[in-house]
Amino acid sequence: MRALDKVVSWAARRGVTVRFSGRALLDSEWCPSTRTITVGRGGQRSRLHMLLHECGHVLIGAEGARYAGRVGAVEEEMEAWKRGRRLAHRLRIRIDAPAFARVRSRCLATYVRWAAAAPVSSPPKE
Ligand SMILES: [Zn+2]
Repeated sequence: MRALDKVVSWAARRGVTVRFSGRALLDSEWCPSTRTITVGRGGQRSRLHMLLHECGHVLIGAEGARYAGRVGAVEEEMEAWKRGRRLAHRLRIRIDAPAFARVRSRCLATYVRWAAAAPVSSPPKE
């Protein structure tokens, strides 16, 4: 079975639908209310890595509530990448580690920039 199909089957067993769309890869998302993962356009490998990441969000599930604020959102992103990587291992999917690290880094960079761009109302006290 192809790696991508293995992950789609894993998601289906959890009642999660996976859609492959023509949107930008970095606009891939997990929508908890419709239990749908939308994966943007890209090569097989890029799509696999993004899908694993979104499955990481599925695994975080309700625990996501503990990641508050913008910095919390960055932490949740990092956790989702970690869980996606572990999921690949459990499904016996070989990951191209440098390629996985590159897409992870690109995605995290956008979150870090967004978190850092938040207005600061008062200077830090410690
Ligand atoms: Zn994410």
